[in-house]
Amino acid sequence: MPLVFPKFHPDARSLVKQYLTPAVYKLLAPLKTQTGFTLATAIQSGLKNPDSHIGIYAGDAPSYFLFAPIFDPIIHAYHAVDKTFEYRPGLDQTGLDQIRLAPLDPDKAFILSSRIRVARNLSGFCFPCHISSRDRARVASLVSDAAETMPRELAGNYLSFKDLSPSQMQDCLTRKQAFPKGDRFQDAAGINREFPDSRGTFTSRDKRFMIWVNEEDHLRIISMEASADISGVFNRLCRGLDHLSTRLEFAFDKRYGFLTSCPTNIGTAMRAGVHIRLRKLEKNQARLKTLVDKYHLQIRGTGGEKTSVEKGVFDISNKQRLGIPETRIIQNLHSGLAAIIEAEKSL
Ligand code: ADP
Ligand code: MG
Repeated sequence: MPLVFPKFHPDARSLVKQYLTPAVYKLLAPLKTQTGFTLATAIQSGLKNPDSHIGIYAGDAPSYFLFAPIFDPIIHAYHAVDKTFEYRPGLDQTGLDQIRLAPLDPDKAFILSSRIRVARNLSGFCFPCHISSRDRARVASLVSDAAETMPRELAGNYLSFKDLSPSQMQDCLTRKQAFPKGDRFQDAAGINREFPDSRGTFTSRDKRFMIWVNEEDHLRIISMEASADISGVFNRLCRGLDHLSTRLEFAFDKRYGFLTSCPTNIGTAMRAGVHIRLRKLEKNQARLKTLVDKYHLQIRGTGGEKTSVEKGVFDISNKQRLGIPETRIIQNLHSGLAAIIEAEKSL
């Protein structure tokens, strides 16, 4: 059967459209991973959403190797790494509780909260866009069992969304103890299938440590608090991650680092950021953009990716996740935020 080159929207500017040449398509279209994942499925999100930035998801760990001719150029472009890119670990080398950075916003004038998350997937299972109902349930049970054993400081409860009535779910969403069904990008990729089945969250008693289960990745491990104490948030994340790593085996490759659904997350799979109110820079976004680019950061809206900035509250976080150790990511974020706060004060 002749292979028909996929039709991207004429206005689409996604990285997948940019790098999926007819030659690459011809090479990859006939292939399937052992679990049956194909290029045609991988690019659904980009095909259905003309405003996609990336437009491709991995269905399992082997997707990154089998479909490397399309994933690799996207990885180079997004993470701004060279062709011989490599995961550079930072966590193990520095040990725990090592980060101690100067207070960023001692008068609590700008930073409302800090949040650091890493994405992880369990080794041996398909990723969320391609997983079966049965395996999704197994993932939820493995993760919730591991979470039950968290050390005292991080101990808490697992909440299964399936057990919630619609009004209870709404209440948990408002209190940020649940995550919503994914957006149209995740929907087109197949990530939202059977939501809320086998989805849930683990939340520590003090609410500063969470695990999202079966969202865009099997696990999103999150440390957050309503302060500018990035070091404290990072150190707590390390303690939680360290514990979970003794209980669960994560999909990992020496070169690509931790393997995730979206190629923008591979490597450290870490996004460290703050919610920061910038009333003056909001009116001078060119200046803000220059600083954000200089420190390799990115801006998201107040409600997360692809939402708008409300009441001057920006989500500013690291952009690169690969080729740079976790500790360096935190230091860059810290320097960038210090420069942004200086600029805001000077206006
Ligand atoms: P990610 O995919 O990296 O976890 P998203 O952009 O999808 O992040 O956002 C997930 C949720 O986390 C959103 O509800 C967003 O508002 C919230 N969030 C992100 N950063 C912060 C922060 N620094 N403080 C409070 N909430 C945050
Ligand atoms: Mg997200």
